[in-house]
Formats: sequence, structure tokens, C-alpha cells
Amino acid sequence: TNRTFTMIKPDAVEKGHIGGILSMITEAGFRIVALKLTQLTVADAKEFYAVHSERPFYDELVTFMSRGAIVAAILEKDNAVEDFRTLIGATNPADAAEGTIRKKYATSMGENAVHGSDSDENAAIESAFHFAGREQF
Ligand code: ATP
Repeated sequence: TNRTFTMIKPDAVEKGHIGGILSMITEAGFRIVALKLTQLTVADAKEFYAVHSERPFYDELVTFMSRGAIVAAILEKDNAVEDFRTLIGATNPADAAEGTIRKKYATSMGENAVHGSDSDENAAIESAFHFAGREQF
């Protein structure tokens, strides 16, 4: 499909980077089709990241992702999932390319400013987790 799902994570919201990150997203040609400021409960974060439940960083990830407000959004563009992964950059900001969102705003492997879906299937699942149909434009 031509849609992907993103979150601006608590670290970036805390530091006041919502506007800067949304600007990078729209300047890269993505159209915002759904958008909200919200917060994940611990249970939400556990469910959202269930695929990582056996990883050593799971508890840290759940605590981090539920500690404050996030921005959830659905984005539309040709080749959205792959192009958005390119725009956000590598998971570890030390490896993130120049011009990427994580290069500019991430501080560590865990606190890396943004999420981007890794497949069309997960983009649909993650979008439905956060947004009702009538909230998607
Ligand atoms: P995301 O799924 O958030 O877009 P990603 O696909 O780049 O990130 P994953 O490997 O799926 O990275 O890991 C999911 C998230 O878990 C990372 O974005 C990061 O916040 C956290 N994470 C990953 N590896 C570590 C680690 N070694 N230590 C702490 N947190 C980590």
C-alpha cells in the first residue's frame, strides 16, 4: 500500500521536536492522513512491541514508550513504508545517515525519536491500533 504508520516517541516530544519532525516528514513528500497527541499505557506499549518481548531491552522499551506523550500519525506517499524507513535512518543514531530524522533528533539506540512501520502488514495493524476509520483522511 501507499501508507505507513509513525510515532514521535516520548524523548522527542519532551524536547519540543514535534514541529521539527513533522516538518521533515511533510517536506519529504508525505501527506498526513491521521494525527494525534496521545500516551501509551504500559499495556499498550507491551502489546505494540510484543514482537520484542524476548529481547533484553523489552522492559526498558516498554517503560520508555509509556513514560509520556507521543504523536501517532498515518502517512501517505508512493512506497511509503520503505521511503519512511529511509527518512528516519538507522535504529542506532550513531549509524544514521546525514539528513535523517534520527541523525538530527535521536540520542541513543533506545531513545531514537521516531518509529516507522517495517512492512505494509504492520503499518495496517499499527494504524488500526491507534486510529478509527473516521480519523483517517
Ligand atoms: P522502530 O520499530 O521503533 O521503528 P527499529 O525498527 O529501527 O525501530 P527495532 O529493532 O524494531 O528498531 O527496535 C524497536 C525499538 O526498540 C527501537 O526503535 C528502540 O527504541 C528499541 N531498541 C532496539 N534495540 C535496542 C537496544 N539495544 N537497547 C535499547 N532499546 C533498543
